[in-house]
Amino acid sequence: MTTQPTTTPGKTTQPTTMPGRVALVTGAARGIGAAIARRLARDGFAVAAVDTDAEGSARTANSILESGGRAIAVGADVTHEQESSRAVARASAELGPVTALVNNAGILRDNMLFKMSTEDWDAVLNVHLRGAFLMTRAAQAHMIEAKWGRIVNLSSTSALGKRGQANYAAAKAGLQGFTKTLALELGKFGVTANAIAPGFIDTEMVHAMVDRMGVEFDDWKTAAGREIAVGRVGTPDDVAAVAGFLCSDDAAYVSGQVIYVAGGPRG
Ligand code: NAP
Repeated sequence: MTTQPTTTPGKTTQPTTMPGRVALVTGAARGIGAAIARRLARDGFAVAAVDTDAEGSARTANSILESGGRAIAVGADVTHEQESSRAVARASAELGPVTALVNNAGILRDNMLFKMSTEDWDAVLNVHLRGAFLMTRAAQAHMIEAKWGRIVNLSSTSALGKRGQANYAAAKAGLQGFTKTLALELGKFGVTANAIAPGFIDTEMVHAMVDRMGVEFDDWKTAAGREIAVGRVGTPDDVAAVAGFLCSDDAAYVSGQVIYVAGGPRG
């Protein structure tokens, strides 16, 4: 699904978009991905909001258009090789070459190791790792051609190990190694690669996790906040602010880093 820019009377359609700056954000239908898409649009990027949830992507793209930015919505599954390359090709054809990529799409399939199914292991590794690989391989050519690029991968504090998340922790740790390798391979082309590792962020992913624990969300949130140095659970905008910086020109000398966005020093 593609959403075309609309014209608002008395307003130009794309007042703040920087020429040549196009970002593709995966998992952009909601949560952290939607916040990053809106943040990058505010920072002057034209944005392709990619998600399996095409309606949610359209909502994100429309909110950017309503704020005067440029955006399209693309329904695509990042684990699917052809859909990934088509998403990058379509974003590049409709908005311009994709020079910033945020690999944010994610799923949870938590279970203790002895109960974890092979399907749940594969599903999590596929979305986070295979998805990031396919999207990055498709987008890097545009960045190299432009001699400018920004890649941001969503890792997690779970990369340090978390009970019940053998699949997710392995995927998120894998993304850190992937990120550092991209930084080494692509740095000479003006392309940086960094990872953001959030702690608890208030999104549907965490709501579903807390539901499965059989706990009231507000009670959980208050208790979780007490354990976090700054005294609260994070918001999608807390993460988007860091993504905005990492995709900016100011971050040109920051590459191969993992930035924990967890409200405290412990990942
Ligand atoms: P979320 O609310 O569950 O949103 C994730 C989005 O990704 C959903 O719209 C989902 O669409 C989409 N998606 C899933 N599989 C996809 C695929 N194969 N192709 C394209 N899109 C796909 O999650 P979130 O909390 O915003 O998390 C965003 C990222 O941050 C994830 O990588 C997550 O692991 C990471 N993270 C989150 C937290 C946290 O506390 N929330 C902490 C650390 C790291 P569907 O609805 O169709 O599945």
